[in-house]
Amino acid sequence: MKLERSIAAFARASTVLAGGVNSPVRALGAVGLSPVFMKNGAGEHLYDLDDHEYLDYVMSWGALLLGHAHPAVTRAINNAVTRGTSFGTPTQAETELAEAIVSMMPSIERLRFVSSGTEATMSAIRLARGFTGREKIVKFAGCYHGHGDSFLIAAGSGALTHGVPDSLGVTEGTARDTIVLPFNDVPAIEQAFETAGEAIAAVVVEPYAANMGLVLPRPGYLQRLRDLCTRHGALLIFDEVITGFRVASGGAQQREGITPDLTTLGKVIGGGLPVGAFGGRADVMAYLSPSGPVYQAGTLAGNPLAMAAGLAVLGTIAEDPTLYARLDALTQQLSEGLGEVMARHGLAHTCVRAGSMFTLYFTQGPVLDLEDAQKSDRGLFAKYFGAMLERGIYLAPSQFETNFLSAAHTARDVDRTLAAAEASVAQVLTAA
Ligand SMILES: *Cc1c(COP(=O)(O)O)cnc(C)c1O
Repeated sequence: MKLERSIAAFARASTVLAGGVNSPVRALGAVGLSPVFMKNGAGEHLYDLDDHEYLDYVMSWGALLLGHAHPAVTRAINNAVTRGTSFGTPTQAETELAEAIVSMMPSIERLRFVSSGTEATMSAIRLARGFTGREKIVKFAGCYHGHGDSFLIAAGSGALTHGVPDSLGVTEGTARDTIVLPFNDVPAIEQAFETAGEAIAAVVVEPYAANMGLVLPRPGYLQRLRDLCTRHGALLIFDEVITGFRVASGGAQQREGITPDLTTLGKVIGGGLPVGAFGGRADVMAYLSPSGPVYQAGTLAGNPLAMAAGLAVLGTIAEDPTLYARLDALTQQLSEGLGEVMARHGLAHTCVRAGSMFTLYFTQGPVLDLEDAQKSDRGLFAKYFGAMLERGIYLAPSQFETNFLSAAHTARDVDRTLAAAEASVAQVLTAA
């Protein structure tokens, strides 16, 4: 397969962009390849500079629930752009999108728009600290909440007291205020509250952890987090930047029946434009400037084009009562089919799925936390990824990412993908 133009484009980009990309995972380093430069997308397909067509399972990292260039979204953006791109004043579209979100996600009484998921989570923890008057937050190893300093923290040796910086440039001081615990580990969170309960402002969690590959909560785990936060006066923050409007119209919190105090959103609510949001209890949100003492702002927050795109996406979801059931069934078919392919070839594997999200791990499983996910055979994953790419299947380019289907994917796409997986695994095993 010739990727000449992509390779040349990357060389050129690398002379002016840091590392040649604007977000690290795009560099395809995890699978040892050069990035594929795309020039357009339509429905479930992507097209690269060398004119290859791919069946896309990245969907802009989950943002494109409806597929690429969905007509309703494209029309909404086109209409909005002719009226001006940004005013620096309130617009009615912000209220309309907020009303749509509030009506679909009842835990959100008030919200605020920002321009990325990173901003949403950063702002949510500042608000939680301001509201509770406490300094520490709890996060879970393998959960990703954007690149804010407080989240780029790894478990320290004294994990129950504080974490350590997970990136150069993050200070020890910041790391001291983040407690990092294993996901799905009830005794660990119980002990953290016992030790530091008075100091914990918030527990931040991806209800379905989708940034170490997909890892689902054990039954009762999220409810336990809810109960502990309530008992100790800490806020429970669900980071639904991926799962919001992705796994159900009310997000993972609807499927699991848990009411968080705050929720962060992004990805799907922007329809592919840069949007994030955080919201929740009205008494907590009242602490935000200008009504309250916690400062937060954004020049392009609630941008008219982004609001128009978001309204088109949520409007389309609202008009299609079987959307999530269809996505669910199709993704189940795919993930079960992939499991059968791996089993036929005698490969240790675990398929984890929730709604239209799935990850295939090359390990026996179960995969319930970061340590389990890291047991996956990454060398095998890299070869499988490359073999699938050659067959026109664009999977999430790292073992520790989640694949996404969109409303544009079809049963025929699933069959094609399973046939490609069969051939890819046969090729990889023969070569080895
Ligand atoms: C993508 C993501 C973020 C960060 O969003 P950006 O828009 O990339 O800043 C935060 N939390 C979760 C769960 C995410 O998946």
